[in-house]
Amino acid sequence: MFWEKEIETMDVNELRKLQLERLKSALLRANLAPYYSQLFSEVGFDPAKVSSLENIQSIPFTAKNDLREHYPYGFVAVPRDEIVRMHSSSGTTGRATVVFHTQGDVDRWTNFVARSIYTTGGRKGDVFQNTMGYGLFTGGLGLHYGAERVGMMVIPSGPGNSVRQINLMRDFGTTAVHILPSYAMRLLDVFEELSLDPKKDVNLKIAFLGAEPHSEEMRQKIADSYDMEAYNSYGLTEMNGPGVAFECPEKDGMHVWEDGFLMEVIDPETAEPVPDGEVGELVFTTLTREAMPLIRYRTRDLASVYPDPCPCGRTHLRISRIKGRSDDMLIVKGVNMFPIQIETVLMGFPDIGRNYQIILETKEHMDEMTINVEVLRSADDMRVYEGLKKQIGAAVRSEILITPKVNLLQPGSIEKTEGKAIRVVDKREKE
Ligand code: AMP
Ligand code: ZN
Repeated sequence: MFWEKEIETMDVNELRKLQLERLKSALLRANLAPYYSQLFSEVGFDPAKVSSLENIQSIPFTAKNDLREHYPYGFVAVPRDEIVRMHSSSGTTGRATVVFHTQGDVDRWTNFVARSIYTTGGRKGDVFQNTMGYGLFTGGLGLHYGAERVGMMVIPSGPGNSVRQINLMRDFGTTAVHILPSYAMRLLDVFEELSLDPKKDVNLKIAFLGAEPHSEEMRQKIADSYDMEAYNSYGLTEMNGPGVAFECPEKDGMHVWEDGFLMEVIDPETAEPVPDGEVGELVFTTLTREAMPLIRYRTRDLASVYPDPCPCGRTHLRISRIKGRSDDMLIVKGVNMFPIQIETVLMGFPDIGRNYQIILETKEHMDEMTINVEVLRSADDMRVYEGLKKQIGAAVRSEILITPKVNLLQPGSIEKTEGKAIRVVDKREKE
């Protein structure tokens, strides 16, 4: 059974007590890692004296850069031979950040994922196709073990090779998939090329959409196109990977598994806590990890906490869809915006296809934004889309106050990536 009722619906005060107990031991464990033992002594923090969850506010935040500077083992809190696994985050710039796990860590991670899958209705008997990358990326192995624990039959297809993905779905009756939202969209083109209808010709019932930002509108489009339930799945390598926060059947916010992760939400500029309901940066502390405890890790991910309890009965806090990363925020012509805002606008047009990209350039010392977006149906003469182009331009303008250049392209013409979609190409001249 992976409906862990006592934990998932625990009285909130009890949950806070459980977190405090776990936090105390997490901090004592962290103190065994070179990085934290030095940090704690520098700031005069005594992990043995913690008496409330708020006490951690006197510990400085941990940032991705700290992980990089203390690469590879500076955060490890166990003897090296206790480590059974490492993963690395998918960041493309700078030194990778690596995260280590003991067998117990892998077990607990698996359990968070199994719980998440079970929450969405995934069960023994389901055929689960995992199209996420296997290897250093956590999306492959993380969901793989969780699904096996639930008892699903796992097809570890990995990413790419779209025709084979569809064949596997058909031959083995895949009922659940783990898929990047951008890939779920692009796969629709391949269904079309094969003259197949994903609503009829495959038997998908559940999708776990994760690893990259996507709008509610895109989720809806994916769910409708495949006639399945699509659940938002959030995680990051530094917090194991998937299985940090997951949607329940209400599909209204993701429950953060608070028995494993202590969450704070802060203003990314001032680092002060923000009230529930307001967007801020998510900060997490691992409560149960042994090999590599992380204390007050700044994720850069922006979301808000729902102030009210979920009708499903789970008491663990819900967070909104991720609005973007504080480092993804674009300043174009002096206006702050997130790529997801443009996606939301694009998805509102039924004739818009399955891929888009935002290009930023400098033209005569000014920022210029071009939105390349595929249309749903190819046309011999793209001029038939002139009206649509204007409508998109106007809709984007009313959302972000910038008039973009809009390029409508034939389906499938934007370059495909195997991993997370590249939504923004910033070619602007830097001062
Ligand atoms: P990685 O550690 O390389 O797997 O990347 C983790 C990052 O992916 C997170 O910090 C988020 O920025 C992003 N991410 C993961 N899941 C989601 C999601 N469901 N929605 C939006 N962004 C996500
Ligand atoms: Zn719920």
